Amino acid sequence: MKQRVLIAVAAAIFAAGIVGCLLLLFAPSDHNKVLIRRDGEVLYSLDLSKETNRTFVIPYGGSSNTIEIRDGRIRVLEAECPDKVCVRTGWLSSSAIPIVCLPNHLEISFASGNDDIDAVAE
Ligand SMILES: [Zn+2]
Repeated sequence: MKQRVLIAVAAAIFAAGIVGCLLLLFAPSDHNKVLIRRDGEVLYSLDLSKETNRTFVIPYGGSSNTIEIRDGRIRVLEAECPDKVCVRTGWLSSSAIPIVCLPNHLEISFASGNDDIDAVAE
């Protein structure tokens, strides 16, 4: 009898673990807040869950980046930078990999990243 309870508890913990992993993998909540920064200064703070589909241009000197927000995602649609790394990065999909445009000093990343993780851990 006691063994059955232990197995049931273990199964419940195991199931909760799987559900937790799935939530972490698929929950979009962590990937809604996006910061667009230039040299560490926040130019835009966006909540992708509230943004409508649109494009906008961020000028820099004589050049610019065109940002596209569509279906809760964000990317650099076009850029006047020489390397186009920011455009080729595509949609922002990971906290670990920001969209960076070195020539235009532009960085697009999820705001949730380390700040929120630190806050939860402490
Ligand atoms: Zn670029």
